[in-house]
Amino acid sequence: MKKLLFAVFPALALAALCLWYYDNSTASAGSFFVDEAGLLMAFGRLAGIVGALGVMGQLLLVSRAGWLEPLFGLDRLTRFHHAAGLLIPLALLLHPPLVVWSHALQDGNRFMAQYLAVLSWDDILPAAAGELLIIAAVLLSLPFARRRLGYETWHAVHLASYLGLALAIGHQLHYGGDLNAERAWFSWTWYALLAFTAANLLWYRLLRQVLLYRRHGFRVDRTFMESPDVMSIYVKGTGLSRFRAEPGQFALLRFWAPGLKLEAHPFSFSKAPDGEELRFSVKRSGDFTARLHAGLKPGTPVIVDGPYGVFTAARLSSGKALLVAGGIGITPLRAMLERLAASGTDAVLVFSNRTRKDMVFAGELAELGKKGGLRTVHVLSEDKDWPGEKGRVDAAMLRRLVPDLGERDAFLCGPPPMMAALDAGLRGLGIPGERIHYEKFSF
Ligand SMILES: Cc1cc2nc3c(=O)[nH]c(=O)nc-3n(C[C@H](O)[C@H](O)[C@H](O)COP(=O)(O)OP(=O)(O)OC[C@H]3O[C@@H](n4cnc5c(N)ncnc54)[C@H](O)[C@@H]3O)c2cc1C
Repeated sequence: MKKLLFAVFPALALAALCLWYYDNSTASAGSFFVDEAGLLMAFGRLAGIVGALGVMGQLLLVSRAGWLEPLFGLDRLTRFHHAAGLLIPLALLLHPPLVVWSHALQDGNRFMAQYLAVLSWDDILPAAAGELLIIAAVLLSLPFARRRLGYETWHAVHLASYLGLALAIGHQLHYGGDLNAERAWFSWTWYALLAFTAANLLWYRLLRQVLLYRRHGFRVDRTFMESPDVMSIYVKGTGLSRFRAEPGQFALLRFWAPGLKLEAHPFSFSKAPDGEELRFSVKRSGDFTARLHAGLKPGTPVIVDGPYGVFTAARLSSGKALLVAGGIGITPLRAMLERLAASGTDAVLVFSNRTRKDMVFAGELAELGKKGGLRTVHVLSEDKDWPGEKGRVDAAMLRRLVPDLGERDAFLCGPPPMMAALDAGLRGLGIPGERIHYEKFSF
C-alpha cells in the first residue's frame, strides 16, 4: 500500500501537468503558449493549480485518515506536512501577480491599476483574504516564529487557515479557466478532489470521534499519582473490547470539563489496552497538564481520538528488543513491554530518570520481569547515592549494558536531544536505521 501511494502521487502530479499543458495549448481562444500574456496566464494557472492541489494534499496529511495514518504514523505525516507547507505559499504567492500581469498586458493597463481592478471582481477579495490567512499560518509555523508562540496560539492561527481555504474555493470554481464548462471532466475531477479532501477531514477529524464517544461513553474512572509529577488516568467505557489499540500507540484526549475541553492533547497508552480500561500517564509539563493534574475529577467524559501511531512491537524485525526510555517517554514502552513479555521476547529496558522519585512504574516493570524475557536497568543522572547505573544514557553505556545490541531492534522514547544522540550513536555501533524506531512527544 505504501509503495502504491508512492507510485500514485507522482503519477497524479504528472497527469495534472499533462492536463494543464493540454488545456492551455488547446484553449478555445488558441494556445496560450504563443505570446507573453498567454504564457503568463498559463503559468499563473499552473501556480494556482499547484497551490490548490498542495493545500488539498496538506489537509489530507493532517486529516488523520485511517487509510493513510497507519502507513506512516501521525508524527511523520505531520513532519512532512510542515516541510511541504513551505513550498505551497510560493505557488500561492506567484498565482495572483502572474494572472494579473497577463490581464494587464492583454488590456493594455498598468500592473497596479489592473491589480486593483481585479480585486473588485466577484469572489476575488475573499480569495485574497483567504490567501493572506494561509500565508500567515505558514509564516507563523516557521521555527523562529513557532518558538515564540505558545502551542495554543499557533494552533488557533493554523486553524484560521481553514477559513482561508474556504474563502478561496469560490474563486476557483468561479474563474478557474481550467474549471470552466468547456472541460466538464476537468471540473468534475476538481470537485471530486475537493469533496474527497473535505470528507476525510469531516470524518476523521470530527465525526469519527463523536461516533467513538457515542459507542463507548469514555469516562475518567480514577486517577493515581505515580510520582509527584506523573498522574495516571484510568478511562472506562462500554464495549471497550471493540476499541482496538496496539501497545505503543497513543490517542488525542479531550476532557469534557471546564478549563480543559477546548484542547485535545496526545498521550500514549501506558498499559496495553485490555478491553476493560485504558490508562494514560501524564507528566505535568505545561499549563494544560498542570490544569489536568489540579482539576481532573472521576466521571469526567473523555473524547478519545485514536488510536494513532506506528511505534509498536509490530516493527520488531530482529526478534530481540532494546528499549530506551527517558522520563515520561516510558509510557509507550511500558505498554509495549506487556506485549513483548506475553510473547516471551528477549527485551532489555534501559530507563533513565533524574532521581529516584521520578521513577514511575518501577513495581510494574519488576513484575513484568518475573514473567521472563525482560531485564530492566534503571539509570539515574542526579542521584549520587543510587547504587545502580548513574549518569546519562549514551551509546557507550548501552554497549556496555547490552553487549549484543547489534542484534536487536532499538525502540527509543525520551527527550529529543537524548533521542537524537542515541540515534546517531546506535547507527555508529552498526544498528541499521530501519531497526531504530522512535516516538517523539511533539508534532
Ligand atoms: C505521540 C505523543 C505521545 C505523547 N504521550 C505522552 C504521554 O504518554 N505522557 C505525557 O505526559 N506526555 C505525552 N506527550 C506529550 C504531551 O502531549 C505534552 O506534554 C502535552 O500536550 C503538553 O501540554 P501542556 O499544555 O501542558 O504543555 P505546553 O508547555 O503547552 O506544551 C509543551 C509541548 O508539548 C507539545 N504540545 C502541547 N500541546 C499539544 C497538543 N495539543 N498536541 C500536540 N502537542 C502538543 C508542544 O510541542 C509543546 O511545545 C505525548 C506527545 C505526543 C506527540
